[in-house]
Amino acid sequence: MTASTISKIEIFRVPPRWLFVRVETSDNIIGWGESTLEGHTEAIEGAFCDLRERFVGAEADNIQDIWQTAYMGRFYRGGPVLMSALSGLDIALWDIKGKKLRVPVWQLLGGKVRERVKVYGWIGGDHPSEVISAAEARKAQGFTAVKMNGTDAISWIDSPSFLQATADRVKQVKSVGLDVGVDFHGRLHKGMAKQLAKLLEPLHPMFIEEPLLPTQPEEIADLSNAVSTPIALGERLFSRFDFRPYLERRAIDIAQPDVSHCGGISELHRIASYTETYDVGLAPHCPLGPIALAACMQVAICAPNFVIQEMSWKMHYNVTSEDDPAAEADLHTYMANPEVFTVKEGYVAAYKITLAGPGIGVEIDEERVRRASENYVHKGSPWRNPVWRGEDGGLREW
Ligand SMILES: [Mg+2]
Repeated sequence: MTASTISKIEIFRVPPRWLFVRVETSDNIIGWGESTLEGHTEAIEGAFCDLRERFVGAEADNIQDIWQTAYMGRFYRGGPVLMSALSGLDIALWDIKGKKLRVPVWQLLGGKVRERVKVYGWIGGDHPSEVISAAEARKAQGFTAVKMNGTDAISWIDSPSFLQATADRVKQVKSVGLDVGVDFHGRLHKGMAKQLAKLLEPLHPMFIEEPLLPTQPEEIADLSNAVSTPIALGERLFSRFDFRPYLERRAIDIAQPDVSHCGGISELHRIASYTETYDVGLAPHCPLGPIALAACMQVAICAPNFVIQEMSWKMHYNVTSEDDPAAEADLHTYMANPEVFTVKEGYVAAYKITLAGPGIGVEIDEERVRRASENYVHKGSPWRNPVWRGEDGGLREW
């Protein structure tokens, strides 16, 4: 096998809030990655100044050496910014290796252990309401499971009436015939979270996600012991090392690393094996773009403890064709082969359709990416998350 040298690393910020990575090699292989860190696009662009300086000229085949050098070779390591940048580079290098060897990445990771990948969509936005029509729309798309936000902005100890409203919404979604995961989004503090977890327990949600902020592994472990509902967490953890306190405390049942933040396909695959040793399932977090989703799917196909995959198709952050056809920025917008993510009976038929192609299996419409990126950059600031304040003027978790 002749060596492929990295000749160019480009990044593209595109709507709705994504950052794509394009890596080209000396033998003209193009790999795509995704380094989206929602709301912190410029920080990732800065981190790429360093990655470009270090790895243009490096052998693209040496994914593990590049990963370790990016991680260990500059003293400071980990965290959302450095790891999201590394994630996009890692995904692109796996895409290149698969294309060079003409096999999907999941073959390089050991081959499939399942035929289809179970997926879920989102209902409601940041302010969860009107859930029935949203649930019906997801059902019509082919989903059998969804996720929703548990509460709106909530103070440290808020009115108990907030909690009953959440339980009512969960009941409404279940009445449509869908399984539902409830994302607490780290919005609740312990005094409210333990009440809501208890209230939801008899409704059998698939999981409750980020019941508390990830700074609270001990308190999350207490909550995990207090209810039978599976506890999910991981989108704000950035390596297998970050998962360790949650695993050692038996605090979680489902790990949700985000392939765009946790170190790419290399680290997602390692986290899958690591969490399996604690009897913890894997549900990769992915409210992001098509490249991140394809990267998650590579691991989902070959990880024995895989549970379910998040998908952003028609999610509230995206601009869908129903919203504005001219400005569409949805999961399929930048893809030349959107059919690979077809959802049927709650699954994507991954090995037959999605990821039979070499590399990560998605074909990117490069012209569209370049055009969209140019327009988006001219608009000024990229996407930012809202900053929430309560009736008293005090900050609330978003
Ligand atoms: Mg979440």
